[in-house]
Amino acid sequence: MALLKIAEPGQGRTRQAARRKRAVGIDLGTTNSLVATAEAGKARVLELDGARLLPSIVHYHKTGFSVGGATPHAEAMSVSSVKRLMGRGREDVSHQLSYKLEDSTTSGMPRIVTPSGHVSPVQVSAEILGVLAKHGAQVLGGDLDGVVITVPAYFDEAQREATRDAARLAGLNVLRLLSEPTAAAVAYGLDKKLQGTIIIYDLGGGTFDVSLMKLQRGVFEVIATGGDTSLGGDDFDRAIAQWILQQGKLQTPQGRDWAELLARSKAAKHKLTEQAETTVEYQDWQGVLDRETLLSLIRPMILKTLKSCSRVLRDGDITSDELTDVVLVGGSTRTWGVRESVRDFFGREPLCSLDPDEVVAIGAALQADVLVGNKYGEETLLLDVIPLSLGIETMGGLMEKIIPRNTTIPVARAQEFTTFRDGQTVMALHVLQGERELVPDCRSLARFELKNIPAMVAGAARIRVTFQVDADGLLEVKAEEMVTGVHSSVVVKPSFGLLDSDIEKMLVEARSAVESDVKTRTLREKQVEAERHIEALNAALAADADTLLDEAEKTALQEAMNTLAEAAGGNDGDLIERLTHQLNQVSQEFAARRMDAGIRKALAGHAIDELD
Ligand code: ADP
Ligand code: MG
Repeated sequence: MALLKIAEPGQGRTRQAARRKRAVGIDLGTTNSLVATAEAGKARVLELDGARLLPSIVHYHKTGFSVGGATPHAEAMSVSSVKRLMGRGREDVSHQLSYKLEDSTTSGMPRIVTPSGHVSPVQVSAEILGVLAKHGAQVLGGDLDGVVITVPAYFDEAQREATRDAARLAGLNVLRLLSEPTAAAVAYGLDKKLQGTIIIYDLGGGTFDVSLMKLQRGVFEVIATGGDTSLGGDDFDRAIAQWILQQGKLQTPQGRDWAELLARSKAAKHKLTEQAETTVEYQDWQGVLDRETLLSLIRPMILKTLKSCSRVLRDGDITSDELTDVVLVGGSTRTWGVRESVRDFFGREPLCSLDPDEVVAIGAALQADVLVGNKYGEETLLLDVIPLSLGIETMGGLMEKIIPRNTTIPVARAQEFTTFRDGQTVMALHVLQGERELVPDCRSLARFELKNIPAMVAGAARIRVTFQVDADGLLEVKAEEMVTGVHSSVVVKPSFGLLDSDIEKMLVEARSAVESDVKTRTLREKQVEAERHIEALNAALAADADTLLDEAEKTALQEAMNTLAEAAGGNDGDLIERLTHQLNQVSQEFAARRMDAGIRKALAGHAIDELD
């Protein structure tokens, strides 16, 4: 994620002032969503019915639905935390959800069963976006020209695409999807500094995200991300609820009673943000919860977040004293004990002058105002990074990375590949995402084919594969045969049946598997190389063995091939390498004769003077 300052030449002054464009920034949160607007570098969060936070909940009943915290219809079913389902297959959703899911045949995302029919996560998000945008339009006095919507830095292509779909469904023009930590950095105006190294600590209702950003010569970039997709303020509430049950020697209640207990626990937690202790009542029990007790309950979870912070620092090869700023984001950073723990961990006072609930929406609004084209002087454009490496499958089931993770977007990278077999006219391309070396350990994003490659000997074709990620993180992969120009491409749409893990887990796994992955990769490469030799030699033998070799020579070659083929089926890399080398030597004479024969054939029938 980088903030690149670009001053437009000769802007402003001479041009007639056009209508100010209407734009808003939307923080589409797992727990709460907000809408904000900005003018000339000043942003404000818009209030909806007296509240700035709109709970990200849609209540469905038989004849319709309502959005937010409004008292639901008696028989309504409430759909919350839908952000977790965006761009995900059912098997990826490890979280306990309070509603029923049904597999969908049309999109990979599961559908939610509600009294008013089945709805997709994209539809639910669209309803939330719709309410916020409509409110923005009302305040700004007309239809919106554009919106900026924030997404977590780790959101992959499928999740971003689902978010864009939701915006489209709500009839919105998305100026850009912006990473939440980038938005927070913008809100604090950190892009105005010359250089810095910044941590964004974002603890929300159900998720924790930490991002390490670097700012240099006006370029502001996220260099590492981490966190926990199932850790947040809701866990604090559950810990308090358990404490209450323990104190009152009460049974764990079910259904509505459990919800009531959680609501009281949350209320007590919020009270302790303002005061040292509070009285809690639940059923016949009454007691006092103080800050010390709260901290003892939530300390293990805070420590977990700090562990993620250590990992991110290590990933970025940075120590806490090299940091210039630590920014607190998310409602749960207000919980007593959190800020203090973060301060002690990083050894500096974190930035928290802006409301942690609002920071992301404010940054989004500031960007929206600039991106929609309202000009005040210097332009600021933002760039993001891709969270996981992108690449393609090569022979031997290996992942070849084309764009490494944390590369700033938009970006285009190309690499050339070639055919494996003589006369191969089709190439299968398998687009992957992940940090591991072997295909099954990576996430499959798309498959497509390049057809009509002119028949050539193996290794002669030149196929250029280009990966292009646009400013919103959407990926286009294109394969082109360089001689004829035949090409084929794919824009990555949500692809499901994915690894049952979040990005953090993928990164951790990749780190712990580095050594074995490298070993397997080296072995696979040797196996592929051996198979390629055997394949080529087989084709050559079929064509020319009878005319160019005697029986003894044929047998010797065949034997060398058989021994190598056998070794290539095993795991002894050194042996495979040695035998490949041997086969090369044994076949050298044959290769030389074929070349001579080939030249004679080419010369036949041509006058000498044609051949210069
Ligand atoms: P998300 O980003 O997941 O949508 P938010 O950033 O809105 O979530 O954070 C919601 C969480 O913040 C909830 O768990 C809520 O209890 C907690 N929270 C909000 N205000 C306070 C407060 N004053 N004291 C303690 N926790 C708070
Ligand atoms: Mg948030």
